[in-house]
Amino acid sequence: MSWVTIIWSMTASACLTLAAIHLLVWCQRRAVWADLLFALAATGTAGLAFCELAMMRAETPGQFATALRWFHLPGWVIIVAVVAFVRLFLEAGRPWLAWSVCALRTVALFLNFTVGDNLNFRSVEGLRSIRLFGESVSIAEGVPNPCMLVAQFGMVLIVIFTVDAAITVWRRGNRRLALTVGGGIVFVALVGLSQGVLRFWGVVHAPITASLSFTVLVVAMGYELSRETLRAARLSEELRDSEARLTLAAEAAGFGVWMWTVDTNTVWGSERWLRLFGFAPDANVSFEQAIQRIHPDDRERVKSAIRLAMETRAGYGVDYRVVLPDRSVRWIAALGRLYAAAGGKPARMLGAAVDITERKQAEQDLLQQRNELAHLSRVTTVSALSGSLAHELNQPLGIILSNAQAAQELLQQDPPVLTDVREILADIVAADRRAAEIIQRLRALLKRDETSRQPLSLNEILDVVLRLVRVDLIDRGITSVCDLAPDLPPITGDRVQLQQLALNLILNAADAMAVNAPGTRRLHITTSRQPNAVRATVRDEGPGLPADSEVLFQPFFTTKPHGLGMGLAICRTIVAAHQGRLWAEPHPAQGAIFHFELPVAEEGAGRERGARDAREEAPAYGQ
Ligand code: ADP
Repeated sequence: MSWVTIIWSMTASACLTLAAIHLLVWCQRRAVWADLLFALAATGTAGLAFCELAMMRAETPGQFATALRWFHLPGWVIIVAVVAFVRLFLEAGRPWLAWSVCALRTVALFLNFTVGDNLNFRSVEGLRSIRLFGESVSIAEGVPNPCMLVAQFGMVLIVIFTVDAAITVWRRGNRRLALTVGGGIVFVALVGLSQGVLRFWGVVHAPITASLSFTVLVVAMGYELSRETLRAARLSEELRDSEARLTLAAEAAGFGVWMWTVDTNTVWGSERWLRLFGFAPDANVSFEQAIQRIHPDDRERVKSAIRLAMETRAGYGVDYRVVLPDRSVRWIAALGRLYAAAGGKPARMLGAAVDITERKQAEQDLLQQRNELAHLSRVTTVSALSGSLAHELNQPLGIILSNAQAAQELLQQDPPVLTDVREILADIVAADRRAAEIIQRLRALLKRDETSRQPLSLNEILDVVLRLVRVDLIDRGITSVCDLAPDLPPITGDRVQLQQLALNLILNAADAMAVNAPGTRRLHITTSRQPNAVRATVRDEGPGLPADSEVLFQPFFTTKPHGLGMGLAICRTIVAAHQGRLWAEPHPAQGAIFHFELPVAEEGAGRERGARDAREEAPAYGQ
């Protein structure tokens, strides 16, 4: 076999092999267009090689002319592919220049098939034999076609377009890429241009060998693409390592890691996460399946947290329960964050989950103990009030008794005086209601209820407590002065706990004023609006407070002979559980002031009744 055939066939097959490899790569990763463009350029180069071989082996001018005409088709493919490669892979080059190059080459291709024998010869007149690699090959002689100026001008434009693109890439700092791809294209274009000018305008007599120089370009492009593929492989290896490290760290910290792919709606979970949710270690979990594991009472809350995170592109944190297949319940604290894909579409949500069942249990136990302690303290407080309450109950009971006796007498008369009896019965009902009300208030306070949250009116709470201690205050010679702010916004809280808070502060104030001379025992109760909060103030005119008033809030601190020292400590816990604050300060003139502030309830709860209403219902202390 001749050297010419060997070299050109090898060039063509090398290019076709490279084209096939990159075509396969592109089939796997359709988004990477550079692989397809490279495959086209390499196939085009193989096409050039075949046409060149046909020209060198031509035996008649007609065979040569046909081979040269078809030579321009792979030439067009290569140029369009190379220009697109520069735009997509190098992400450089002016679009208008790119379009101009492609348009000129397309015009040249059209002229190639329409004007004369081909783009280069108006007519091929004869063949000449010259020596190449020791054997004779054909070259053509004929009338040059001026239309080839279009293609040659196109080559000049390619050089300009590529140099401009290479400068941009160079400036970006990627000098190697600018030199290999940019330099490769410029080199091939200049070689092709000069060969074309010299050969077809009859200056030199040599066969067309463009495929050889284009092979250099294909190698340069292939080298850069393989580097990119190697880089991707290295990155994926690094990613695997970092994933392994992350899983290890998460395992060590007791976290389960999960990732929800929004498009496919699948959830990948680390082994621990799958265990936490009661899935098999190799389970394929869908988003719905994961949500189904969440306790029905918590499901909506979790869903709306996820929805909000997707809308605001922010992270979320939420505690919830999961119900495992064996019906056992586990508390989970979860964090999640959304990662958007290119174009801002939500792509993935990544997060971590940790088992907090033990912590929740401990919190529950603590809450229960606190409730029990608070209940005990209420029982103690109320037992201190029992004397005055019994006295208060006696009043309606006495009314009921005397009215009932009067009614009996009236009924014994002949005829019975029924009109008076009706009035007496109405009095009995009113007195009975009053007694029932007192008992009802007491029962509410003594109930061992679970904590509950509802919108409440601070004025109303103080009102109820003041009614409860009304007789006790009167017995102790204390006058209460109320100034409750009208139109206070509601607060959210536990009614009984807040009543206990107010009761403790009022009874402490009353205790403190026991040393005062009669007539100087005044209790001032005020409510006021604060930024985002409402404040209640209980002030007495007793002996005042120690310099460090914080000591009063410590458990078991008491100065009373039969005191427990738990009242203010419990008040602090109640206020803290309501996200409020409680503090004490001495009054500049005389006595102590205790303030507590509670945050205003969220929008939607009703407005509080005005102070006027409260006073109207509590005439006994509103003086
Ligand atoms: P106790 O009432 O059982 O002593 P508390 O925790 O309610 O428990 O109160 C702790 C201490 O704080 C009281 O013993 C008292 O010395 C002091 N104290 C509470 N309220 C007042 C007040 N209004 N004026 C002066 N001292 C007060």
